[in-house]
Amino acid sequence: MTRATPEAIRTAAGSRSLALFLDYDGTLTPIVERPEDAVLAEPMRDVLRRVAARYTVAVVSGRDLEDVRARVGLENIHYAGCHGFEIAGPRGNRVHEAAAAAAPQLGAAADMVAHDTRGIPGVQLERKRFTLAVHYRRAPEARVRDVHEAVLRAQARHPALRVTEGKKVYELQPDVDWDKGRAVLWLIETLKLEDAMSVYIGDDVTDEDAFRALAHRGLGIAVQDAPRPTAATLTLRDPEEVRALLAGL
Ligand SMILES: [Mg+2]
Repeated sequence: MTRATPEAIRTAAGSRSLALFLDYDGTLTPIVERPEDAVLAEPMRDVLRRVAARYTVAVVSGRDLEDVRARVGLENIHYAGCHGFEIAGPRGNRVHEAAAAAAPQLGAAADMVAHDTRGIPGVQLERKRFTLAVHYRRAPEARVRDVHEAVLRAQARHPALRVTEGKKVYELQPDVDWDKGRAVLWLIETLKLEDAMSVYIGDDVTDEDAFRALAHRGLGIAVQDAPRPTAATLTLRDPEEVRALLAGL
C-alpha cells in the first residue's frame, strides 16, 4: 500500500479543489478504552480549522450527530452522525426516514441486549439516536462470544435491524440501504462538490463503504497500523499522520 502524502493528493487532484471527508474515532483521535474519552486534541482542531478555511470538510462518524459536532466544535465543518443516518446539511438536519421508523425496535432490542449481557463484565451499551453500540473492548476475551450471541438474538427478534461490526464493537442499526458511502455521495451532491476531488480518511470497517463509493471519483485513505484488506488506495498509520497530512494540504 502506498502512503498518503500531500503531494500524492495534490497530484491526483490536479487543478481541482478538495473535499475532505473524515471519520472521527481512530482517525482524528486515538482509539480509547471508553468511547466518551475520545477527545479531539487541540493541534488537530487547529489543523481542521485551517483546512476547513480552504476546502469543504465533513466529519462522518458512527457517533450521534450532536456528540461528534460537540467533540469537534468547529462551525465551518459539515457533520454526519450515526454512520450518516443523520446529517447536518446546508438546509438543516436530514434524518433518514426509514431509520427513524426503526427506533421502537431499536429500543426493544437495546433492552434485550442489556438484559442478556448484564452478567458480563466490561460490556458497555451506547444507545445512540439511530443505533445501539455494544462495546466489548473491556470485556474478557472468553465472553466476547456471549456478547455476540446476545446481539444476534436481539437482531433475530427485531428484523428491522441489522448487525454491523467495528473495532471491538457490535452495532445494531436499521436495516436500510444506507451507510457512510451513501452519506458521502449525498453530501457531494447536496453541497455541489462534483467538481472537487473527494478524499475520505477512515480507520474502520464501516469506512470501507465510503472507500468503495469514492473508488472511481476520489481517493480513500485507510488509517491502519497493520496491513488489512481495504478498498482504500492509500494508507496512513495513525491520527498523528492524519494531522500531518492535513497540515500539508
Ligand atoms: Mg473510526
